[in-house]
Parts: sequence; C-alpha cells; structure tokens
Amino acid sequence: RIVYVNGHYLPEAEATVSVFDRGFLMADGVYEVTSVLDGKLLDFPGHALRLERSLAELDMASPVTPDELLAIFRELVAQNGVTDGMIYLQITRGNPGDRDFAFPDPASTPSTIVAFTQSKPGLADSPVAKSGIKVISIDDIRWGRRDIKTVQLLYPSMGKMMAKKAGADDAWMVQDGFVTEGTSNNAYIVKGGRIITRHLGHEILHGITRAAVLRFAAEAQMVVEERAFTLAEASQADEAFITSASAFVMPVVAIDGATVGSGTPGPVATRLREIYLEESRKTAL
Ligand code: PLP
Repeated sequence: RIVYVNGHYLPEAEATVSVFDRGFLMADGVYEVTSVLDGKLLDFPGHALRLERSLAELDMASPVTPDELLAIFRELVAQNGVTDGMIYLQITRGNPGDRDFAFPDPASTPSTIVAFTQSKPGLADSPVAKSGIKVISIDDIRWGRRDIKTVQLLYPSMGKMMAKKAGADDAWMVQDGFVTEGTSNNAYIVKGGRIITRHLGHEILHGITRAAVLRFAAEAQMVVEERAFTLAEASQADEAFITSASAFVMPVVAIDGATVGSGTPGPVATRLREIYLEESRKTAL
C-alpha cells in the first residue's frame, strides 16, 4: 500500500513518524475518515470543513487547504486502486524533538500529516445492513469536547470491547441518563414516524453523515427532532439506527439484549440508508 506522510507518497514500510510526535505521546492530533465509493469521495467538503474546525479548536494551523487535501486523497485512491473503502487522515502537532506538555512553537514545529486508504470491496452492500446491529449501553466517561475529532480513542475502543464481550456489535454511551452517541457513530431512534437524535453541542461529534441524513430526511418530509433521548425511550422506540462515514445508515435491532420494535431493520432506517447512498454518490468527488 502507498501511504502519504508529510508531502510524500511512500510504500507503507518506508513511511515513518518520530517517537517524539505529539500524536503518539499525547494524542495531540485530529483525524477524519472519508468513505470511497466507485473510486469517489463521499461528503468530502463536510469532512474538510470539520477538519479545519477541529484544528482551529486546538490552535493548530491547517497544513493543507481543502483543495490540496482533495488532491492528496485522489492520488491515494488512484495509486492504491481503491474502488470501495475509506481514507484515514491524521494531523498532529508534530515533533518538537522532546516531551513537554506545553505546545511547541508552530514556526519551529510543523504539524505531522499522514493519510492512508483501506479497501473494503462491497462497502455499500454490507449484509449487516439487512440484519442490523446490536448495541449495549455504557457510561459516557469521555472528556468534555467530543465535538473535536481528536485521536484520543481509548474509551471508544474499550466500549467496543465491552460490546464484543457482551455478544453485541457496538455501545451507545449514556450521560446523565441520556444517550450521547455510539463509540464511532451518531445515535437515533424513531417513534411514531419522528426521527429523534441528540442536538449538537460539546457532548457529541458533529457527524458529517448526520448532517447529510437529517437534510435528506427533511427533504423527504420526514419529521426530525434534535433533542436528547433516554435509554427508556429508546427501548420503547419503533426503530433505532446509527450513522457514520463508514457505516452510512445502519439499523440497530437490539439495545441491552432487548429487541427494538420488530427486531428487524425498520422502514425509516432502510429508506434513509437508500436515500443517503443515492444522494451522496451524486455529490461524490
Ligand atoms: N460520533 C463519533 C464519536 C465518531 O467517532 C464518529 C465517526 O467517527 C461519528 C459520531 C460519526 O461521524 P461521521 O458521520 O462524520 O463519520
């Protein structure tokens, strides 16, 4: 595989990052995951914009413009012959040459930028979307700025492991009685035809897929309520689902071992998945 590191396209075995890199030592970095379908990038402008916001919130200058990023992504897709899959991009505060809590001077410490592709043939026709996934609930003990897409992913990884151990696929995190989001996705329920998903704030990541799906839902005259919901409300819901760049729209058929609605993917989630795939392909770059 050919990967991108600080301006160079290299075979992965030749690509290196310093042991002093702040991404490695302090999780001082941000990332983006963008899906590739038919060799094209889904929702690219949204991901580029959120990247700029994440960097700005952490006082990091962007080492690339959105146009440069698009060129890098396209080059990686071409060099690796990716038809369906994803691109991972990470930008860290670079290598100050030592370990220190204070941020280094950006003039002497340029950021580190790496990107690589992952091929996932048949990504859009995942059989999992036809059966749905099962989630468990766990306490949300993450830090208070989940709207910044940092590489600090230990707790979400632990959540995923807790889910696996319980025979489920993922975990929904709960804070003060209300569902925040999934380990790597936004969470939704459907009740009486209304789509309910947590409002934006510091408590959740502002999903790019979430924004697109809510827009398509409104265009399709579906009713959307952006507000927090409880696990009890979720257990009484007709349907549940998640969204993310890599899962698109994915039905949730069980929460904490109890089936949601009929226990099979519901009509709203199924329709939203179809609309999202159809519409986002149209604007793919
Ligand atoms: N919430 C969290 C915690 C995530 O990690 C992600 C994606 O990685 C999402 C939500 C979904 O965001 P997006 O739709 O931009 O992939």
